[in-house]
Amino acid sequence: MKDIIIIGAGPAGMTAAVYGLRAGKSVLVLSGRGYGGQIVNAAEIENYPAIPKISGVDFARQLYDQASALGAEFVSEKATGIEDQGDKKIVRTESGAYEGRAVVIAAGATNRTLGIEGESRLTGSGVSYCATCDGNFFRGRDVAVIGGGNTALEDAEVLSGIVNRVYLVHRRSEFRGEAAAVKRLESKANVEFVLDSVPEEIRGKFAVDTLTVKNVKTGEERELPVSGVFVAVGQVPENGDFANVMELDSSGYAAADESCVTRTPGVFAAGDCRAKKVRQLSTATADGAVAALAAVEYINGLG
Ligand code: NAP
Repeated sequence: MKDIIIIGAGPAGMTAAVYGLRAGKSVLVLSGRGYGGQIVNAAEIENYPAIPKISGVDFARQLYDQASALGAEFVSEKATGIEDQGDKKIVRTESGAYEGRAVVIAAGATNRTLGIEGESRLTGSGVSYCATCDGNFFRGRDVAVIGGGNTALEDAEVLSGIVNRVYLVHRRSEFRGEAAAVKRLESKANVEFVLDSVPEEIRGKFAVDTLTVKNVKTGEERELPVSGVFVAVGQVPENGDFANVMELDSSGYAAADESCVTRTPGVFAAGDCRAKKVRQLSTATADGAVAALAAVEYINGLG
């Protein structure tokens, strides 16, 4: 039996592993389809304390190496449920089951979809959720980015250096993301803000030809001639399988506070899957540390 089983190998989960191991506990990390989580999609991270600039992939790799060197065991399986047996927790996966004394749920979140006509049919044929991964396929062409948060702003900036023209479509007139990023985009000649506009339909027979947007103030429709639509409208948490051990809020986030404690003794929630106001790399790693130390205290208390 492991001391701590960590569900998720994003920044929160891998930081929890580092803290758990440094406290002398054995740690198993269920990494799903790979390590890194959403941060691997960040082209550049420029707001992590003491690291002026690093790519998301490099950050994830360094954290993975750090946890591995300390003795973390990574298993590429996705957790599908937790059974609470008091001093013992059984974590089930698609292909097996693991026993642990404590569990840290750091399952993160997945991309929210728009739910509009053409989106699912053309995903992979022009519709993408990752500008860093797919941007190069659109070199010299016109694309749209949808969203007003930091991901959309970052995607628009990355794409402006690759494609011919970027339409940044946002449903309000104010961006949710950082003002500094908005300012940088304003100075780019090949970026056009399409504000107060919602996407209505993505058209194209085999690949994306156009995106129809509607101005919510005037009701006017506009057809944007684009080959790519990058959807960056936030995430939804991956907590559904764990509702038996922790409260979820109305949006599905783990209703645990800054202590990362859930209603089940020995089960902790960390990172983007937890209800919180600020979802940043720094808050995810902070959660990982808090959750792991809480798990260590819990295990030591078992005697
Ligand atoms: P987010 O901050 O939740 O922003 C989602 C955006 O999508 C919002 O502007 C929202 O509009 C819009 N939206 C949501 N549903 C929509 C729909 N159905 N149709 C059209 N628009 C829709 O998500 P995010 O940008 O992915 O960022 C997630 C977290 O990661 C944030 O805390 C962010 O700061 C952080 N992040 C940090 C970095 C970095 O530090 N380098 C990079 C990326 C992300 P409204 O504004 O109207 O709600």
